[in-house]
Amino acid sequence: MLAQITIQLGDITKITADAIVNAANTSLLGGGGVDGAIHRAGGAAILEECRKIRGRQGGCKTGEAVITTAGKLPARYVIHTVGPVWNVGKSNEEALLANCYRNSLQLAAEHDVKTIAFPNISTGIYHFPKDKAAGIAVKTVTECLQEQITVEKVIFVCFDAENFELYQRLLNKS
Ligand code: ADP
Repeated sequence: MLAQITIQLGDITKITADAIVNAANTSLLGGGGVDGAIHRAGGAAILEECRKIRGRQGGCKTGEAVITTAGKLPARYVIHTVGPVWNVGKSNEEALLANCYRNSLQLAAEHDVKTIAFPNISTGIYHFPKDKAAGIAVKTVTECLQEQITVEKVIFVCFDAENFELYQRLLNKS
């Protein structure tokens, strides 16, 4: 069965899914944007597990992902992935952003996640151009879903109308 891709406009902390993805930073200690919102809404249990992961492996590299409890959120897990900071395309940002989606889905499948919600990774504080980021997200997720059978539904949660319209346009075409 082909997995389903959907789009929603809103706050990812309100999404009921097996996993939600956090656009974290390499420290895993929380930050602004969606990261701050997830830690605030999920409670201290998330940060506690992030600290343990830091103790084991010293944070998370750009493009990689780690998994924790979702604490008080209406999800089972938070998958923390670190998007690239946009550097006018000179620092392999496009491949690194694709790795975020790929590694998050890989971790999801390993934890038997059937439904997963992604924010628009790197398009906030990290300033990745929204249109480019949306193209990479849709292409990478579509490819990954064809190669696995665990994840059944992916929700792209857009926080602003511009991203929502970009994803609508991309997904109506494919
Ligand atoms: P990054 O550092 O990866 O750019 P940000 O958190 O600044 O991370 O932004 C990533 C995306 O998440 C942006 O599109 C931003 O608008 C969006 N965002 C911020 N808060 C939320 C939220 N509560 N739910 C969903 N998306 C959010």
